[in-house]
Amino acid sequence: MKRCKRLFEKAKAFRAEHPHTHIDAMHQLKQHLAESEQSAQIPGWVLAGWCGDDACEEGVKEETKFTTRNILCDPPKTKNTCLHCGKEAKHIVWFARAY
Ligand SMILES: [Zn+2]
Repeated sequence: MKRCKRLFEKAKAFRAEHPHTHIDAMHQLKQHLAESEQSAQIPGWVLAGWCGDDACEEGVKEETKFTTRNILCDPPKTKNTCLHCGKEAKHIVWFARAY
């Protein structure tokens, strides 16, 4: 079984757990965080594009405390741009905070 496939199997277990697939840019992620805090909900899992650059992963982490969790072979939704830099996405990943 390919590595990403195995991770996807794991990710499926989380899919029912507060997934958000509508977030495509940092300002949307930050708005989502603000709304989650306001309504006392956990921000959950965010599906996003990632260009593959470590600097973007680091940037997301610094700004929102979100880290990449799973790279999907068969994502529920296609993302064309990197969440952080807006360049072409090479991967589609789940971002989440450690709880
Ligand atoms: Zn990027």
